[in-house]
Amino acid sequence: MTKHHSKNKQLIIIGGGASGLAASCIAAKYNIDTLLIEKNAKLARKLLASGNGRCNLLNAGEPIYFGDEEFAESVLNNCSFDKLVDFFSSLGLVLKQEEGGRIYPATGRADTVLDCLMRPLKNSSVNININERAVSIEPLNEGFKLIAEKAEYTCDNLILAGGSIASPKLGGTEDMYNMLMPLGFNLIPPRPALCGIDCDMKPYISLDGTRLMAICTLVCNDKPIAASIGEVLFSKRGLSGVCIMQLARFLPKNTENCHIYLDFSPTLGIDYCLEYMYANEIDYINEKHSALIKSNETAINMPCDMGLVKPSDIYRNTDKALEFLKERLAILNKDDILLGALPSKLLRICTKNSLKETAKSITALKFSSLSPRGFEHAQVAAGGISTENIDPSTMQTFYSKLYIAGETLNVDGDCGGYNLMFAFASGILAAEHVAGKY
Ligand SMILES: Cc1cc2nc3c(=O)[nH]c(=O)nc-3n(C[C@H](O)[C@H](O)[C@H](O)COP(=O)(O)OP(=O)(O)OC[C@H]3O[C@@H](n4cnc5c(N)ncnc54)[C@H](O)[C@@H]3O)c2cc1C
Repeated sequence: MTKHHSKNKQLIIIGGGASGLAASCIAAKYNIDTLLIEKNAKLARKLLASGNGRCNLLNAGEPIYFGDEEFAESVLNNCSFDKLVDFFSSLGLVLKQEEGGRIYPATGRADTVLDCLMRPLKNSSVNININERAVSIEPLNEGFKLIAEKAEYTCDNLILAGGSIASPKLGGTEDMYNMLMPLGFNLIPPRPALCGIDCDMKPYISLDGTRLMAICTLVCNDKPIAASIGEVLFSKRGLSGVCIMQLARFLPKNTENCHIYLDFSPTLGIDYCLEYMYANEIDYINEKHSALIKSNETAINMPCDMGLVKPSDIYRNTDKALEFLKERLAILNKDDILLGALPSKLLRICTKNSLKETAKSITALKFSSLSPRGFEHAQVAAGGISTENIDPSTMQTFYSKLYIAGETLNVDGDCGGYNLMFAFASGILAAEHVAGKY
């Protein structure tokens, strides 16, 4: 069957997610003759699922990105937080800020964000084809040919905003990688990030359903790789919770010699959060973020429900825990030493013959046989198309008028609104360049 050929478009955007819709809004604003192609029947499925349906769409703090981190920061210098707030205000969206600089729609509903992104597209220069999957790109002397499943298109400018392989149930695919690699782009192998970590739970099966504050340290080949603080959720298959999800991107391919150590000091009140971090000179992994925490007086009161910390000695709190246990011997016998300090399900697991061993188990409980929960459960992919030779002020690639935006790129952000923020910013910059604005 011969494919339908559409008339040449000024701009085609592949992907109706966060970055593609932000780009579409700019295209509509400048009246650019645009076609948005989306393979799903519904637009922006990840955006709608984001933040547990509340959509944590921006973060007011310093950027925390991994992969091509400098590139991400540069994109967010070019399309700053203030500019993004102005963009959403111009769409009518009312925003509110919560702890950790997290920004949500004031309604607390992701569909409000989608409603606002869709409004400028109605009766605009942007046409939308849903249920249309883009397959390959052919650079022409002037512009590009786009081959999709149902039709072939030509355009002067092309923005690839088809996202990553993460979360296939919500539209994640490898399509962008497969379309870009034949054109000479490098792919940094994608791996699941921001997902739970499965581990051998046989010794801890009774913990199923428990939640507890802990300092979590990932150690591979006896070397601490990354650490985070937050509430850990225990299940039959492994560990989850934001602080565990934050560690997933640091897991190497071969996890044979990797373990997670949980330190329950925050629950025991031995020391807590920032006080703990100050006392031990532990900084946030991101130097700028650390500077922010240290220079911002209000941050001292920030609830410590999340955060990446510099990995340090895994037994850093064991001596303090031993002192804590010795003090309790005055009121409790040795077998009940943890009673009232930890949930009952943990007592049998952590109470050992000697106080020293007990102190060790409550500050460095070891979990082994680690594996990330996989792309099906990952909020984002670490890795992606390398940003070398992509201009962070326009998102234009080494092909003139070919742009890449959003999670397709080798950029992943921490939990807290950073991933959507990068997707929106990069989509806006690309479309503004097409419009000749920058
Ligand atoms: C459950 C969940 C919760 C999340 N929560 C947050 C959060 O609170 N805050 C945050 O910052 N980030 C969050 N994220 C991450 C965030 O949603 C993504 O980083 C962001 O949506 C990426 O935007 P994007 O435009 O690059 O890709 P996407 O939003 O994935 O959009 C890509 C679009 O392209 C379409 N597409 C793909 N291939 C093709 C093709 N060949 N042809 C046509 N169309 C195609 C897809 O169907 C999709 O609609 C969450 C992710 C998940 C899965």
